[in-house]
Amino acid sequence: MDIGTLYVVATPIGNLGDISQRALETLRAADAIACEDTRHTRHLLDHFGIRAPAFALHQHNEREAAEKVIALLAAGKRVALVSDAGTPGISDPGAKAVAAVRAAGYPVVPLPGPSAASVALSAAGLADERFLFAGFLPAKVGARGTAIAELAVVPAALVFYEAPHRVEETVADLAARLEPARTLVIARELTKHFEQIAVMPLPEGPAWLAADANRRRGEFVLIVSGPPPREGLDAETERVLKALLAELPTKQAAKLAAEITDQPKNALYQRALEIKGG
Ligand code: SAM
Repeated sequence: MDIGTLYVVATPIGNLGDISQRALETLRAADAIACEDTRHTRHLLDHFGIRAPAFALHQHNEREAAEKVIALLAAGKRVALVSDAGTPGISDPGAKAVAAVRAAGYPVVPLPGPSAASVALSAAGLADERFLFAGFLPAKVGARGTAIAELAVVPAALVFYEAPHRVEETVADLAARLEPARTLVIARELTKHFEQIAVMPLPEGPAWLAADANRRRGEFVLIVSGPPPREGLDAETERVLKALLAELPTKQAAKLAAEITDQPKNALYQRALEIKGG
Protein backbone atom coordinates (compact mmCIF):
# COMPACT_ATOMS: atom_id res chain seq x y z
CA MET A 1 0.00 0.00 0.00
CA ASP A 2 1.48 3.34 -1.07
CA ILE A 3 1.51 6.47 1.07
CA GLY A 4 -0.51 9.51 -0.07
CA THR A 5 -2.97 7.28 -1.93
CA LEU A 6 -6.76 6.91 -1.78
CA TYR A 7 -7.98 3.31 -2.03
CA VAL A 8 -11.63 2.90 -3.09
CA VAL A 9 -12.65 -0.39 -1.52
CA ALA A 10 -15.75 -2.43 -2.45
CA THR A 11 -17.25 -4.32 0.50
CA PRO A 12 -19.79 -7.19 0.72
CA ILE A 13 -23.49 -6.61 -0.06
CA GLY A 14 -24.60 -9.14 2.57
CA ASN A 15 -22.28 -12.10 2.90
CA LEU A 16 -19.12 -11.04 4.74
CA GLY A 17 -17.30 -13.97 3.15
CA ASP A 18 -17.30 -11.96 -0.08
CA ILE A 19 -14.67 -9.50 1.20
CA SER A 20 -11.54 -9.82 -0.90
CA GLN A 21 -8.09 -10.64 0.44
CA ARG A 22 -6.83 -7.38 -1.00
CA ALA A 23 -9.65 -5.38 0.60
CA LEU A 24 -8.75 -6.84 4.02
CA GLU A 25 -5.04 -6.12 3.56
CA THR A 26 -5.81 -2.56 2.45
CA LEU A 27 -8.24 -1.82 5.31
CA ARG A 28 -5.74 -3.28 7.81
CA ALA A 29 -2.90 -1.11 6.49
CA ALA A 30 -4.99 2.09 6.14
CA ASP A 31 -4.18 5.05 8.38
CA ALA A 32 -7.82 6.17 8.14
CA ILE A 33 -11.05 4.87 6.63
CA ALA A 34 -13.65 7.25 5.17
CA CYS A 35 -17.06 5.58 5.63
CA GLU A 36 -20.56 6.41 4.44
CA ASP A 37 -21.71 5.51 7.98
CA THR A 38 -19.03 4.87 10.61
CA ARG A 39 -21.32 2.78 12.87
CA HIS A 40 -22.35 0.56 9.96
CA THR A 41 -18.76 0.00 8.79
CA ARG A 42 -17.58 -0.54 12.38
CA HIS A 43 -19.49 -3.88 12.35
CA LEU A 44 -17.52 -4.97 9.29
CA LEU A 45 -14.21 -3.74 10.73
CA ASP A 46 -14.86 -5.36 14.13
CA HIS A 47 -15.73 -8.64 12.43
CA PHE A 48 -12.29 -8.70 10.82
CA GLY A 49 -10.45 -7.18 13.82
CA ILE A 50 -9.51 -4.00 11.94
CA ARG A 51 -8.75 -1.01 14.18
CA ALA A 52 -7.99 1.88 11.78
CA PRO A 53 -9.74 5.14 12.73
CA ALA A 54 -12.91 5.80 10.75
CA PHE A 55 -14.56 9.11 9.82
CA ALA A 56 -17.80 9.94 7.99
CA LEU A 57 -17.94 10.73 4.28
CA HIS A 58 -21.57 10.75 3.14
CA GLN A 59 -23.77 12.59 0.68
CA HIS A 60 -24.34 15.52 3.10
CA ASN A 61 -20.65 16.22 3.91
CA GLU A 62 -18.83 14.80 0.91
CA ARG A 63 -17.09 18.05 -0.05
CA GLU A 64 -15.78 18.84 3.47
CA ALA A 65 -14.88 15.19 4.06
CA ALA A 66 -12.98 15.19 0.76
CA GLU A 67 -10.90 18.10 2.09
CA LYS A 68 -10.07 15.97 5.12
CA VAL A 69 -9.05 13.08 2.85
CA ILE A 70 -6.80 15.41 0.85
CA ALA A 71 -5.18 16.77 4.05
CA LEU A 72 -4.44 13.19 5.17
CA LEU A 73 -2.99 12.30 1.76
CA ALA A 74 -0.85 15.47 1.87
CA ALA A 75 0.51 14.25 5.21
CA GLY A 76 1.55 10.99 3.52
CA LYS A 77 -1.29 8.89 4.96
CA ARG A 78 -3.00 5.94 3.30
CA VAL A 79 -6.76 6.45 3.17
CA ALA A 80 -9.43 3.87 2.31
CA LEU A 81 -12.93 4.85 1.15
CA VAL A 82 -15.88 2.51 1.70
CA SER A 83 -19.67 2.81 1.47
CA ASP A 84 -22.23 0.91 3.56
CA ALA A 85 -22.23 -1.99 1.11
CA GLY A 86 -20.95 -2.80 -2.35
CA THR A 87 -18.93 -0.45 -4.51
CA PRO A 88 -18.54 3.23 -3.54
CA GLY A 89 -19.73 5.62 -6.23
CA ILE A 90 -22.42 3.24 -7.51
CA SER A 91 -25.70 4.72 -6.16
CA ASP A 92 -23.51 5.64 -3.19
CA PRO A 93 -21.23 8.55 -2.20
CA GLY A 94 -17.66 8.53 -3.44
CA ALA A 95 -17.58 10.22 -6.85
CA LYS A 96 -17.11 13.78 -5.51
CA ALA A 97 -14.33 12.72 -3.14
CA VAL A 98 -12.57 10.76 -5.88
CA ALA A 99 -12.79 13.76 -8.25
CA ALA A 100 -11.43 16.12 -5.57
CA VAL A 101 -8.54 13.76 -4.75
CA ARG A 102 -7.63 13.44 -8.42
CA ALA A 103 -7.86 17.19 -8.92
CA ALA A 104 -5.47 17.63 -5.96
CA GLY A 105 -3.01 15.35 -7.76
CA TYR A 106 -3.12 12.24 -5.55
CA PRO A 107 -3.47 8.70 -6.90
CA VAL A 108 -6.78 6.83 -6.62
CA VAL A 109 -6.61 3.03 -6.59
CA PRO A 110 -9.83 0.99 -6.99
CA LEU A 111 -10.24 -2.38 -5.25
CA PRO A 112 -12.90 -4.39 -7.10
CA GLY A 113 -15.58 -6.32 -5.30
CA PRO A 114 -19.33 -6.82 -5.12
CA SER A 115 -21.91 -4.49 -6.57
CA ALA A 116 -25.57 -5.55 -6.42
CA ALA A 117 -26.03 -4.69 -10.13
CA SER A 118 -23.25 -6.94 -11.41
CA VAL A 119 -24.13 -9.69 -8.92
CA ALA A 120 -27.75 -9.71 -10.19
CA LEU A 121 -26.69 -9.57 -13.84
CA SER A 122 -24.34 -12.51 -13.39
CA ALA A 123 -27.25 -14.75 -12.39
CA ALA A 124 -29.95 -13.24 -14.63
CA GLY A 125 -29.14 -15.32 -17.69
CA LEU A 126 -30.44 -12.71 -20.15
CA ALA A 127 -29.37 -12.79 -23.79
CA ASP A 128 -28.71 -9.05 -23.98
CA GLU A 129 -25.13 -8.12 -24.81
CA ARG A 130 -25.53 -4.65 -23.32
CA PHE A 131 -27.00 -3.30 -20.13
CA LEU A 132 -27.77 0.16 -18.83
CA PHE A 133 -27.46 0.77 -15.09
CA ALA A 134 -30.35 3.10 -14.23
CA GLY A 135 -30.01 3.05 -10.41
CA PHE A 136 -33.10 4.19 -8.49
CA LEU A 137 -36.04 5.49 -10.54
CA PRO A 138 -37.58 8.77 -9.32
CA ALA A 139 -40.10 8.31 -6.49
CA LYS A 140 -42.67 10.73 -7.96
CA VAL A 141 -45.10 9.09 -10.38
CA GLY A 142 -44.74 11.70 -13.17
CA ALA A 143 -40.94 11.79 -13.10
CA ARG A 144 -40.79 7.99 -12.94
CA GLY A 145 -43.05 7.69 -16.01
CA THR A 146 -40.81 10.12 -17.94
CA ALA A 147 -37.68 8.22 -16.90
CA ILE A 148 -39.16 4.87 -17.97
CA ALA A 149 -40.28 6.36 -21.31
CA GLU A 150 -36.71 7.57 -21.95
CA LEU A 151 -35.27 4.17 -21.06
CA ALA A 152 -37.86 2.23 -23.08
CA VAL A 153 -36.07 2.80 -26.37
CA VAL A 154 -32.55 2.02 -25.14
CA PRO A 155 -31.36 -1.15 -26.91
CA ALA A 156 -30.04 -2.81 -23.74
CA ALA A 157 -31.19 -4.61 -20.60
CA LEU A 158 -32.14 -2.09 -17.89
CA VAL A 159 -30.87 -2.53 -14.34
CA PHE A 160 -32.62 -0.79 -11.42
CA TYR A 161 -32.16 -0.61 -7.68
CA GLU A 162 -35.34 -0.43 -5.61
CA ALA A 163 -36.38 -0.15 -1.98
CA PRO A 164 -38.91 -2.65 -0.56
CA HIS A 165 -41.60 -0.01 0.10
CA ARG A 166 -41.58 1.03 -3.55
CA VAL A 167 -40.95 -2.23 -5.38
CA GLU A 168 -44.61 -2.99 -6.13
CA GLU A 169 -45.26 0.48 -7.58
CA THR A 170 -42.12 0.36 -9.69
CA VAL A 171 -42.75 -3.12 -11.07
CA ALA A 172 -46.37 -2.16 -11.88
CA ASP A 173 -45.12 0.94 -13.72
CA LEU A 174 -42.47 -1.00 -15.67
CA ALA A 175 -45.07 -3.61 -16.64
CA ALA A 176 -47.52 -0.91 -17.75
CA ARG A 177 -45.03 1.09 -19.82
CA LEU A 178 -42.67 -1.43 -21.43
CA GLU A 179 -43.35 -4.10 -24.07
CA PRO A 180 -44.99 -7.26 -22.67
CA ALA A 181 -42.45 -9.38 -24.56
CA ARG A 182 -39.68 -8.22 -22.21
CA THR A 183 -38.39 -10.39 -19.36
CA LEU A 184 -38.25 -9.25 -15.73
CA VAL A 185 -35.66 -10.46 -13.23
CA ILE A 186 -36.40 -9.78 -9.57
CA ALA A 187 -33.23 -10.37 -7.55
CA ARG A 188 -33.68 -9.88 -3.80
CA GLU A 189 -31.44 -10.31 -0.79
CA LEU A 190 -28.46 -11.24 -2.95
CA THR A 191 -25.71 -13.18 -1.16
CA LYS A 192 -27.91 -13.35 1.99
CA HIS A 193 -29.90 -16.11 3.67
CA PHE A 194 -33.17 -15.37 1.84
CA GLU A 195 -31.61 -14.75 -1.58
CA GLN A 196 -34.14 -15.16 -4.38
CA ILE A 197 -33.74 -14.63 -8.12
CA ALA A 198 -36.99 -14.96 -10.07
CA VAL A 199 -37.23 -14.64 -13.86
CA MET A 200 -40.62 -14.08 -15.52
CA PRO A 201 -42.39 -12.34 -18.39
CA LEU A 202 -42.64 -8.65 -17.41
CA PRO A 203 -46.47 -8.57 -17.28
CA GLU A 204 -46.38 -11.28 -14.55
CA GLY A 205 -44.22 -9.16 -12.21
CA PRO A 206 -47.04 -7.46 -10.23
CA ALA A 207 -48.86 -10.77 -9.55
CA TRP A 208 -45.60 -12.48 -8.54
CA LEU A 209 -44.95 -9.80 -5.91
CA ALA A 210 -48.58 -9.79 -4.72
CA ALA A 211 -48.62 -13.57 -4.21
CA ASP A 212 -46.41 -13.59 -1.08
CA ALA A 213 -45.49 -10.78 1.36
CA ASN A 214 -42.00 -12.30 1.77
CA ARG A 215 -41.31 -11.57 -1.90
CA ARG A 216 -41.63 -7.84 -1.13
CA ARG A 217 -39.07 -7.85 1.69
CA GLY A 218 -35.37 -7.00 1.63
CA GLU A 219 -33.17 -5.32 -0.95
CA PHE A 220 -33.97 -5.48 -4.66
CA VAL A 221 -32.31 -5.34 -8.03
CA LEU A 222 -34.78 -5.33 -10.93
CA ILE A 223 -33.59 -6.14 -14.45
CA VAL A 224 -35.73 -5.80 -17.57
CA SER A 225 -34.41 -7.40 -20.76
CA GLY A 226 -33.85 -5.18 -23.79
CA PRO A 227 -36.63 -4.18 -26.20
CA PRO A 228 -37.77 -6.87 -28.65
CA PRO A 229 -36.29 -6.53 -32.16
CA ARG A 230 -38.32 -4.23 -34.34
CA GLU A 231 -40.19 -5.70 -37.30
CA GLY A 232 -38.47 -4.39 -40.43
CA LEU A 233 -36.85 -0.99 -40.73
CA ASP A 234 -38.37 2.27 -39.56
CA ALA A 235 -39.79 4.64 -42.16
CA GLU A 236 -36.83 7.05 -42.09
CA THR A 237 -34.25 4.28 -42.60
CA GLU A 238 -36.34 2.85 -45.44
CA ARG A 239 -36.50 6.32 -47.09
CA VAL A 240 -32.72 6.89 -46.82
CA LEU A 241 -31.97 3.41 -48.19
CA LYS A 242 -34.31 3.82 -51.16
CA ALA A 243 -32.88 7.26 -52.00
CA LEU A 244 -29.32 5.89 -51.97
CA LEU A 245 -30.28 2.80 -53.95
CA ALA A 246 -31.60 5.04 -56.72
CA GLU A 247 -28.09 6.49 -57.15
CA LEU A 248 -25.62 3.84 -56.01
CA PRO A 249 -24.81 0.12 -56.29
CA THR A 250 -26.57 -2.07 -53.69
CA LYS A 251 -23.59 -2.71 -51.43
CA GLN A 252 -22.48 0.91 -51.36
CA ALA A 253 -26.03 2.14 -50.75
CA ALA A 254 -26.48 -0.28 -47.81
CA LYS A 255 -23.12 0.72 -46.31
CA LEU A 256 -23.84 4.44 -46.57
CA ALA A 257 -27.40 4.01 -45.26
CA ALA A 258 -25.99 2.10 -42.27
CA GLU A 259 -23.60 4.96 -41.53
CA ILE A 260 -26.31 7.60 -41.85
CA THR A 261 -29.02 5.80 -39.85
CA ASP A 262 -26.82 3.92 -37.35
CA GLN A 263 -28.63 0.66 -38.23
CA PRO A 264 -26.86 -2.69 -38.78
CA LYS A 265 -25.23 -2.97 -42.22
CA ASN A 266 -26.37 -6.56 -42.75
CA ALA A 267 -30.04 -5.75 -42.14
CA LEU A 268 -29.83 -2.85 -44.59
CA TYR A 269 -28.06 -4.97 -47.21
CA GLN A 270 -30.75 -7.67 -46.92
CA ARG A 271 -33.48 -5.07 -47.28
CA ALA A 272 -31.65 -3.48 -50.22
CA LEU A 273 -31.61 -6.84 -52.00
CA GLU A 274 -35.37 -7.21 -51.38
CA ILE A 275 -36.04 -3.73 -52.80
CA LYS A 276 -33.84 -4.43 -55.86
CA GLY A 277 -35.56 -7.77 -56.34
CA GLY A 278 -38.84 -5.93 -56.57
N1 SAM B 1 -23.06 0.71 -3.82
C1 SAM B 1 -24.00 -0.39 -3.77
C2 SAM B 1 -23.62 -1.39 -4.86
O1 SAM B 1 -22.50 -1.34 -5.37
O2 SAM B 1 -24.41 -2.25 -5.19
C3 SAM B 1 -25.43 0.07 -3.90
C4 SAM B 1 -25.87 1.00 -2.81
S1 SAM B 1 -27.54 1.52 -2.95
C5 SAM B 1 -27.62 2.80 -1.76
C6 SAM B 1 -28.43 0.24 -2.16
C7 SAM B 1 -29.32 -0.52 -3.11
O3 SAM B 1 -28.55 -1.52 -3.77
C8 SAM B 1 -30.45 -1.28 -2.42
O4 SAM B 1 -31.59 -0.44 -2.22
C9 SAM B 1 -30.74 -2.37 -3.43
O5 SAM B 1 -31.52 -1.86 -4.48
C10 SAM B 1 -29.33 -2.68 -3.94
N2 SAM B 1 -28.75 -3.76 -3.13
C11 SAM B 1 -27.74 -3.64 -2.24
N3 SAM B 1 -27.47 -4.84 -1.68
C12 SAM B 1 -28.33 -5.73 -2.23
C13 SAM B 1 -28.56 -7.13 -2.07
N4 SAM B 1 -27.86 -7.84 -1.19
N5 SAM B 1 -29.52 -7.71 -2.81
C14 SAM B 1 -30.24 -6.99 -3.69
N6 SAM B 1 -30.08 -5.67 -3.88
C15 SAM B 1 -29.14 -5.03 -3.17
